[in-house]
Amino acid sequence: MTHPARSARFLIVGPQGSGKGTQGVLVAEAFDVPQVATGDIFRENVKGGTELGKQVQAIIEAGDLVPDELTSELVRDRLAQPDAAGGFVLDGYPRNRGQVAHLDEFLAGRGEALDAVIELAVPRDESIARLRQRALDQGRTDDTEEVIANRLAIYERETAPILDVYRERDLVLRIDGVGTLDDVTGRIFDALAERGLVPNGDGAAATGAA
Ligand code: ADP
Repeated sequence: MTHPARSARFLIVGPQGSGKGTQGVLVAEAFDVPQVATGDIFRENVKGGTELGKQVQAIIEAGDLVPDELTSELVRDRLAQPDAAGGFVLDGYPRNRGQVAHLDEFLAGRGEALDAVIELAVPRDESIARLRQRALDQGRTDDTEEVIANRLAIYERETAPILDVYRERDLVLRIDGVGTLDDVTGRIFDALAERGLVPNGDGAAATGAA
């Protein structure tokens, strides 16, 4: 490569059912960085019956948050892997101010910083409707009516406020999450490009041109 690869350290934040898992994978693939979804990692551990899985199973099934220190340690370990050296798309983390502080500390310790926070905005009703559909399609044990309500309440109370923190740092790209999957993907890549964040190999961006 003639130009040093630019970093692509992204968060993707949005309520349950916003489609952030799907969109996060597309962004990660385009930028050739790993997508790291804490919920997926926890679910894999539960499925595999690991020690971590046993620790978190009841918490996840209730839709509560796994303790910050445990979650942050898991994320630190994952982001320290070589494949995440040039970037990552973090989905589902940080989810509250404590985790924001942990992530700040981790990145600062490595001389790194986030490049953008992708906010997928979806109205509550739409979010609930999509989760109900997912419950039918996938049968996730935390997609029951009661647990969905708990997860959304935690999102609104603890996670939405972290967007203010990142807004103050001018990192947030607010994306309208209503529309077809392709529409939303297009909006995300347009918003990233406006910040000069385009995948390597897409020409101008790799040279750092504005
Ligand atoms: P959703 O966003 O639809 O609730 P996720 O797959 O992101 O689903 O997360 C599933 C569950 O995993 C959460 O309800 C929570 O119990 C746990 N979890 C995931 N990420 C975190 C996190 N950053 N902090 C604490 N718990 C988490």
